[in-house]
Parts: sequence; structure tokens; C-alpha cells
Amino acid sequence: MPLSEFALIQRYFSHCGALRADVSLGVGDDGALLDAPHDQTLVAAIDTLVSGVHFPPDAAPASVGHRALAVNLSDLAAMGASPAWALVALTLPAVDEGWLEDFARGFSALAQLHGVALVGGDTTKGPLSVTVQVMGFVPRGKAMLRSGGAHGHALFVSGTVGDAAAGLALEQGRLILADATSASRLRARFAFPTPRTALGIRLRDFAGACIDVSDGLLGDAGKLAAASGCGVDLDVDELPLSADLLAALGTEEAQRLALSGGDDYELCFSVSAARVAELERALPAHEWHYRRIGALSNVAGARVTRAGTVMQFSHFGFDHFV
Ligand code: ADP
Ligand code: MG
Repeated sequence: MPLSEFALIQRYFSHCGALRADVSLGVGDDGALLDAPHDQTLVAAIDTLVSGVHFPPDAAPASVGHRALAVNLSDLAAMGASPAWALVALTLPAVDEGWLEDFARGFSALAQLHGVALVGGDTTKGPLSVTVQVMGFVPRGKAMLRSGGAHGHALFVSGTVGDAAAGLALEQGRLILADATSASRLRARFAFPTPRTALGIRLRDFAGACIDVSDGLLGDAGKLAAASGCGVDLDVDELPLSADLLAALGTEEAQRLALSGGDDYELCFSVSAARVAELERALPAHEWHYRRIGALSNVAGARVTRAGTVMQFSHFGFDHFV
């Protein structure tokens, strides 16, 4: 006999994620009761993942649970917020207990790592899709905005970029690699992205603007720049590329994917030139894993340079700008 909706929620979602003292009432009633700290600003974000659009229909359910939360935690990280609570709206074609168990396990493991309690949600029947809302806090006036950049700010990105796009291409059979270890690391960058929560919180003290890289570095850095009333110059030779990506694609194609590929969930942030040394002292780059990739400029739009030469960038690769 299939599980009733009530039993399903009880079994998989009533004890999911971290236990938090600020949850007076979690899953089970008509609404959750949450005690927001009075001296902080509540930060809320929501994202929907639709099967066949944001993840392959046959994606491992643990990955779907992880990603649905990770993409939201990444938004909070970009604001400099500490995550606290999540709600999940699940639309399922049928009750598949194996799928639900793995989904909840993937979600819960990441939620526990980041101290997030699952406090409610909704469960409906229909084509598979997952919506997660997260809430967190930031001290008043300390949130990082996309608009906090200025001409002359240095621009940085965390981690490595392009890996998730390569991972998705591997997953979909558009890319094939002989090195199985390397392939599985790249796939994991797509299937189990790491939200940069701790970095986001520390960057509050240094960054002007911040955005998370979900749609590709070039586009997202461009959004940050535009919101800040600036343009952006990116040095293609400074892009942080993983050894796996370089070995898989070679430098040129790896750089192209690093600029245009999505789903990395790294942080791209600007720091005023006067504060760069302070940032590097407080958060050593070799410990916190970020790299300077360019600067905000006073010329609108995004420009990619190689050794000082402006490159024309297209989906087919690089050409010298003519
Ligand atoms: P209602 O129709 O009154 O909203 P539901 O049956 O949808 O009640 O939900 C009952 C309880 O279970 C609520 O507390 C709701 O937040 C929670 N809930 C429902 N679906 C989920 C889910 N997928 N994950 C977490 N909590 C859920
Ligand atoms: Mg409901």
C-alpha cells in the first residue's frame, strides 16, 4: 500500500537537517514558528529545480536533494548570510520510497553540514520538481549586494570554475573521458556542489559586491558589474581551472567553459584596491581558495583580455577582437 501523504512527510521530512533552538515548531502544523534574532536582518531565497530542465530526469535522488538546497545556500552565501531554516515544496509523479529516502538523505546531509533545519514544506502530485526556500541572517547593514562594487575594485572568484559544466556534459554523454577518477570528480562538481557559506560570511568584512556563479562566470560577473554601475575586465589567463578540467579539455576549451559554463556555485566578489592586502592577510588565498581574475572598470559591459589583448568571446571559442 502506498504511503499516505502524512506518513510520507513523517517518515522522510519530520527530522531532516539540523536541530535548532530557534525552531519553536517545525514540520507538522499549519505553519512553522521560528524565532528570528531581533538584531539581524532576515535573508530569504528560493529556487526551483525542474526535472529535465535543471537536472537530468534520471539524476540520483541524493544529488537532487543536495542541489536543491545547495543552490539556495549559495544565494545566501553571496549575501553574506548565515543559513538557518529551509522549506521544501516537492512535486512528485508517484510515491517512490527509495527515491524519497535518497532525496531526503542528500538534503539532510548538506543541511546538517550548514546548520539548517527543515521546518516545513508542501507535497503534491505532478511532474517532478523541487522548490526549496531558505532563510538566514545577516547583521543589520552588513549584507553584500551586487550593487556594492565600484570602478577600480579588484574582482575575485572562489574555487575553480567550469568543472560543473564539464560534469554535466559527462553526465549527458556529450563529453567522454578516459580517466575515470577525473571524470567522477567533475561529475561530482555538478551533482554535489559546495555552497561557500563560510567564505560568504567572512567576506562581509572585505567585499564590496558579491554574486554567486550559477549561470557562468562571464554573465554573472557582468550582472555584478552592471548592478554596480560598472563594466568588468576579466583576464582569461587568471581563471582558476582545476587540473581535472585542464586534463579533460585543454587550456582553451577549459577557459571557454570557465567563462560560460554554469552550475559552479562559486562566489564572485569585488574588493576595493585599498583593502586587497587586508583581505589576503585575513583570509589567505591558499586556505580560502579564491583568486583575483580582473577588475571593475568604468566601461560598461564585460571584456575578456589575454596578455593585455581584448578577446572576442563566443560560444565557439576565442578570437582576437577585431
Ligand atoms: P497543509 O495542507 O495544511 O499545508 P500539509 O499536509 O501540506 O498541510 O503539511 C503538513 C505539514 O507537513 C506542514 O507542517 C508542512 O510544512 C509539512 N510538510 C509538507 N510537505 C513537506 C515536505 N516535503 N518537506 C517538509 N515538510 C513538509
Ligand atoms: Mg500544504
